[in-house]
Amino acid sequence: MTTYLGMPGAAPTAPRGVGHLRGSEPFPVAARRALADSQLRRNLGNATATIRAKRAAAVAELPDWEQLREAGRAIKAEAMRHLDTHLLRLEAEVQARGGTVHWARDAAEANQIVTRLVQATGSTSAVKVKSMVTDEIGLNDALAAAGITAYETDLAELIVQLGHDRPSHFLVPAIHRNRAEIREIFLREMADVDPALTDNPPALAEAARLHLRKIFLSARVGISGVNFAIAETGTLSVVESEGNGRMCLTLPQTLITVMGIEKVIPSWRDLGVFLQLLPRSSTAERMNPYTSMWTGVTPGDGPEAFHLVLVDNGRTAALADQTGRQALHCIRCSACLNVCPVYERTGGHAYGSVYPGPIGAVLSPLLTGVEDNASLPYASSLCGACYDACPVKIDIPSLLVYLRARHVEEHREEHRVPSTEAVTMAAASWVMADPRRYAAAQRAGRSGRALSRGGRIRALPPPLSAWTRARDAPAPPVRTFRQWWRESGRERS
Ligand code: SF4
Repeated sequence: MTTYLGMPGAAPTAPRGVGHLRGSEPFPVAARRALADSQLRRNLGNATATIRAKRAAAVAELPDWEQLREAGRAIKAEAMRHLDTHLLRLEAEVQARGGTVHWARDAAEANQIVTRLVQATGSTSAVKVKSMVTDEIGLNDALAAAGITAYETDLAELIVQLGHDRPSHFLVPAIHRNRAEIREIFLREMADVDPALTDNPPALAEAARLHLRKIFLSARVGISGVNFAIAETGTLSVVESEGNGRMCLTLPQTLITVMGIEKVIPSWRDLGVFLQLLPRSSTAERMNPYTSMWTGVTPGDGPEAFHLVLVDNGRTAALADQTGRQALHCIRCSACLNVCPVYERTGGHAYGSVYPGPIGAVLSPLLTGVEDNASLPYASSLCGACYDACPVKIDIPSLLVYLRARHVEEHREEHRVPSTEAVTMAAASWVMADPRRYAAAQRAGRSGRALSRGGRIRALPPPLSAWTRARDAPAPPVRTFRQWWRESGRERS
């Protein structure tokens, strides 16, 4: 059976209601506060440096890593090109094997569907496997409003949920917490915890395990996301490290899987590529400890009812953008977050989106509109580390520049009086277009040495003070390059 609330190939839809991703604060404001939190910066610096080093070692083991990346890129590009065909095939195969498929245009529809399905079982609770799309649509809040408790079972998600907090990383949602903070949360929020709990990681994991086991054994409904959906057989797949996913997917009588429509891949052969790319890029493992796959329902084995909710929530709009659509290739490995110098310093909350870091800075504007997320494409130094790390070769720096240009274009009409930036850029263009003007500007620039102390300029007059308020600049050299070239006699040789 299928419920049709939205269909692939329909007119691009913009997300509505609770699917809205942004908080009210622009990135620069939230980032400034995060930068002032030295504990947060220490936690983030330690965690990202460790993950970065491990990932680099895991990736270096494979001589064909670059070919794998290219294969991943090509598979995703092909899947997006024929997304409607693959989704319809997936739907038909899931139904043929006893599952039910639901289509949701936006967050509000997806939440209504899931709430209705849980209510139909008579249960007032559900266990959840970590899922970004359910965070995106605000499912836990929607279920709570209907009197249904959603229990997060991934250790880091549990820490976030018990701490009444928000995730700040795809893979390590509690990356901003250290073990002492986690112990405090457990002691405060877990009714059944041992009061002598220490902040030793195995002790913390054991406390979570004991707490969750009771919840697992009484759960009648499981809710999951999807890492990959294989169209040719209607098989869904979740990869994880803790085994909580396997419990959620197999113990309850009813399984509800919520999936962004971009997660579909054509075939099992394609899955082989991603099962090599994803673990090494995310947890730096050669393979995931748990890779669960299920196809419809099997009598006497696992859930008796299976529902697949296919969520658009802005994805067809992103797909219609020929440049931006590659952001939909993302497999949520988080490698780009771990190498990003901006993310490392601000953490995920500053992005005001469930999708933080470099990919969040492009995905959020594409899903909800550039205007709602105007500051995010600027939250990057464009160093290119994210592109180098991405296992499916998403050209994030180019996407950031593209979204900045779109933002500027959308506001061009408002700026009848040119902005300071526009005037500065026009002046720079005029100076650089002529070698004599450029040489004169270089000579004038050397007067900046008078403002330097110890080789750095730490304060400039307005409007350049906007730069030096947050950072310093190197003092101009004693000689320009042209002078050095001339004086060293190279001009004659
Ligand atoms: S953009 Fe690439 S590196 Fe970043 S999370 Fe997605 S797949 Fe991983």
